[in-house]
Amino acid sequence: MSQSRHHQIVIIGAGSGGTSVAASLLRQRAGLDVAIIEPRDVHYYQPAFTLVGGGTYALEDTIRPQADTLPKDATWIRSAVRQLVPEQRQVLLEDESRISYDYLVVAPGIELNWGAIEGLEDALGKNGVCSNYAPELATYTWTCLDNFTGGRALFTQPSTPIKCAGAPQKIAYLAAHHLQKRNLRGDATVDFYNGMGALFSVPDFVPYLNQVAEGYGIGVHLSHNLVKVDGERKVATFEVKDGEGQTRQIEETYDLLHVTPPQRAPGFVRDSSLANEGGWLSVDQHTLQNAQYPEIFSLGDASSLPTSKTAAAVRKQFPVVVKNLLAQLDGRELTARYDGYTSCPLVTAYGKVILAEFIYGGVVTPTLPLSPFKQSRFYWVVKKYLLPPFYWRYMLKGKEGDIAHKPRT
Ligand SMILES: Cc1cc2nc3c(=O)[nH]c(=O)nc-3n(C[C@H](O)[C@H](O)[C@H](O)COP(=O)(O)OP(=O)(O)OC[C@H]3O[C@@H](n4cnc5c(N)ncnc54)[C@H](O)[C@@H]3O)c2cc1C
Repeated sequence: MSQSRHHQIVIIGAGSGGTSVAASLLRQRAGLDVAIIEPRDVHYYQPAFTLVGGGTYALEDTIRPQADTLPKDATWIRSAVRQLVPEQRQVLLEDESRISYDYLVVAPGIELNWGAIEGLEDALGKNGVCSNYAPELATYTWTCLDNFTGGRALFTQPSTPIKCAGAPQKIAYLAAHHLQKRNLRGDATVDFYNGMGALFSVPDFVPYLNQVAEGYGIGVHLSHNLVKVDGERKVATFEVKDGEGQTRQIEETYDLLHVTPPQRAPGFVRDSSLANEGGWLSVDQHTLQNAQYPEIFSLGDASSLPTSKTAAAVRKQFPVVVKNLLAQLDGRELTARYDGYTSCPLVTAYGKVILAEFIYGGVVTPTLPLSPFKQSRFYWVVKKYLLPPFYWRYMLKGKEGDIAHKPRT
């Protein structure tokens, strides 16, 4: 027989968003009954996966036990959500039990859809096919790069929304730089195949990124979407869109293939009445509250927020969810607003980063009075050495102190 339990606030997913919300709620109001549903027993610091793939960060340092990162006063329900039943204020779990709630925060992240590319699942993890999008495959990226003695290195980005839209090109830059340092440039080519029509979603950054790619001699192929991998023959097939919207397929041989998989909202979100037309959990882009069910909030990669999906975005979203949820709980007006802030440390070399920070509408909004377009040694230090402890000790602990970002003058 299925069991049923009730918690005042139920959070789905103990990643960047869910853990920060839980910690902040309990920090601000001790005694709240907060339960967090999460099947995984470890928490990954995913932003460092790029550095793991580049051989400059240990995978072990990206991992902490879930039990150490979750707030002590939250109840951890170690299961996965299978279905949302908002009309009954319930969620159904994989083990058939039901959890009812007064308030729900949905933060299950994004689903990696490896199966959408024919042959990819069989090809991954061997014969030079790697990906920074899964921890064990990120270490294989470095194995491939370090053992690369020449030939064709291909890097792909799909046409779907993805988490950290800069990550597919960051690893291409690290690879090119690594080959340059090993004097392999004459024997090796690096190509970036992007299913999107531009190198980056914010036009202001594109000329600077084009310069970086050109500097390395990286071939940039836009509107090229990876659809098939033949791991035995080492052939990648791309669907190419021309100016008139016609598509054709081309085949490219490779010696190294770094794949960023197509991504989508988790199935239980896509299948629910709370999904928008793209499948994402529908919330107001400023209050982060669902329009039909005011007791439901969402943040992070699974949400409908029309901004680039990053932990840096979650950093600015979680205080808004917490303030507005507490206001809703108290019967007060919701006053906290999210402006779409997100940031992507675009690693352009070992030791160099362009820090892209922007809000809704692609307005560039740096936090510090430094050029947002310059490759910076300082931002490399921030990315590699300062942000990880900030994440573990500050953000995941629900601490909200902040330096305001501002539009450029
Ligand atoms: C290669 C790579 C590079 C990146 N680089 C950067 C970067 O440089 N800067 C940056 O800011 N961000 C970066 N990111 C993105 C960042 O990690 C995510 O945007 C961020 O973690 C999103 O937080 P979230 O809480 O929405 O999802 P997540 O942190 O992914 O957490 C989701 C949680 O929900 C759980 N879950 C899933 N399904 C269920 C279910 N059915 N029931 C219950 N729980 C479930 C998962 O197990 C997981 O713990 C990168 C990510 C990758 C993969």
